Order: sequence, then structure tokens, then C-alpha cells
Amino acid sequence: MHVTVKAAAKINLMLDIIERLENGYHSLWMVMQSVNLYDTITVERTGTGEICLSCTDARLPADETNLAFQAAQTFFEATGVSNDGISIAIDKKIPFAAGLAGGSADAAATLLALDRLYGTNLKQRTLNKIGLTLGADVPFCLQGGTMLAQHIGELLTPVPELPDCWIVLAKPAQGISTAQAYHLCDTAPHLRAPDKRGMLNALLAEDLKGAARLVGNVFEQVIDVPERVAVKALMREYGALGCCMSGSGPTVFGLFDAQQAAKDCAEKLKTIVPDVFACRPVEEGCIVTEE
Ligand code: ATP
Repeated sequence: MHVTVKAAAKINLMLDIIERLENGYHSLWMVMQSVNLYDTITVERTGTGEICLSCTDARLPADETNLAFQAAQTFFEATGVSNDGISIAIDKKIPFAAGLAGGSADAAATLLALDRLYGTNLKQRTLNKIGLTLGADVPFCLQGGTMLAQHIGELLTPVPELPDCWIVLAKPAQGISTAQAYHLCDTAPHLRAPDKRGMLNALLAEDLKGAARLVGNVFEQVIDVPERVAVKALMREYGALGCCMSGSGPTVFGLFDAQQAAKDCAEKLKTIVPDVFACRPVEEGCIVTEE
């Protein structure tokens, strides 16, 4: 018996830090968007009493430090369901440590697969609550689409979907850790806030050009990724309506209204960064494809 779930990557159309909280977390204001770049997670009951994990990308841990493994442990603890043994197979397509929430997507998919596999039928709220203990992006990865995510990321409000477009993702080789990125923001003298109201108004008006013009991320003011200037210049040269870094980077995305321009741009970007994808916005985070 197995369940297969596709888990979508996310980008941040907008990311602002509102304040640093006393517990060390940060209160955020983010517009999140799922894109059709998927990891595929298959969870199977094995009867061995153990959690066993495999991943197509050997650079990622296959032990209890993998977020999907932790998601399974947390599922059994939180629900009281007894673990009679499962295997988790991750077909990894989302680049990791990229600002695309790949780990959170895998954790979200594992929770959803286990909910189906064990027939626990958890409410969305409960899944989100369990997911939040694994990572701030997990509740969004469970739901997906276009969402305003506030507080540490768990306060999700659907906003009008981003009009259909092409989204080119370009991931430079080197990034910095999310913890380092927050530290740089905490110690920066002043950060310019992106136009949050303008972004919501553009989405309400279904105005792709308006939304694309306003994409913004405060992390860009403190994180220096060498290839970012070249990537953005190339995206603009190919007609991107707007471009920006996602999360704490280093992936940069560009929004395009023309498929050919996006594809040509993606081809050219491959000559300067290792991972490039031409994607589209999607309305779901996790999709059960087999059960
Ligand atoms: P975010 O956008 O949420 O900050 P990210 O894209 O920057 O996420 P992830 O891809 O989630 O980062 O990976 C962060 C780290 O988590 C990696 O360096 C990796 O070692 C670890 N990790 C553990 N499990 C996974 C997993 N299943 N997929 C990806 N990374 C994982």
C-alpha cells in the first residue's frame, strides 16, 4: 500500500521582515506562489517498524535529519498512530538550500501521504499545526497557490492568484544559510520596505505587469550573491516584467508574459548558473497523484 504526492516549490513574490520576535523568530509579510517544479514523494507501509528513507539526490541526508523523516516522526507523535514501518522515497527535483522551500515541500508531502495512508483524515488546520513544528513554510507548502503569509509564515490568507505567466528560476551555486541571512537583516541599519499595499492591489486588479514591477525581497539588500546582477540583467534583456530573489536565496526568479522569451532566457541563463527552470504558477502545494 503506498501513496504518492507531488510537492511544489515556492517563490516569494514579496518578502518583508516586520520585526524580530522575542523568541528569536521573525514576523514576516510574504506573498508566496507555488510553481510547477515538483519533488515526488512516495510513502509505503512496510511492516518493519522502522522509518526508512531514500532520495535520488545523494547530497541530501537519508537519515533522521531529512525533513521528510522528521515529518514522519512528528506525524506519529502528534496523532498517536503507531508506526508499523514505512519507507519514504524522494524523487528530488527542487534544488535544495535554494530559497524554494524544497525541504518544507517534502515535509508537507510526507504529512499528507501519511494522513492518507493511515486514514487519519486530519483537518487542514491540524496538518498545518503539525507542519509548523517542522518549518515555517510547511503550512504554505501543504496548501499552496498564491497566499499572503504572515507572522512566522503560518498565518495564511488566500489572495487573488497571480495571472498566468512564465516564471524562470535561476539558482546560483553559492548561497548563505537562512540563519545568517536573518542575522544580516537584524544588524543592518535600515531596510527599505517593499510596496506591500501596491502588490495586493496589483493582484486584486489581476495586473501581471503591476505585480511583476513590484516584486521585492528585503534579503536582497543584505545578501550579496555574485551572479545576481548578471542573472537579473539577462532576464531584463529577454523581457522579464520583473525579477527578484526568492526567500533567503540564492535563487532569482523572473516573470515573463511570453513563453518563447522565457524559454530563450532560460537557455541563456544555463551558461551562467547551474540550475535553471522555466515554470508556471500553480494553484496547489501538494497533490496526491497515486493512492
Ligand atoms: P526555504 O526557502 O524554506 O528557506 P530552502 O530552499 O532555502 O528553504 P531547503 O531546500 O529546504 O532550503 O534545504 C535547507 C537544508 O535542509 C538543506 O541544506 C538540507 O541539508 C536540509 N534538508 C533536510 N531535508 C531536506 C529535504 N528533504 N530537501 C531539501 N533539503 C533538506
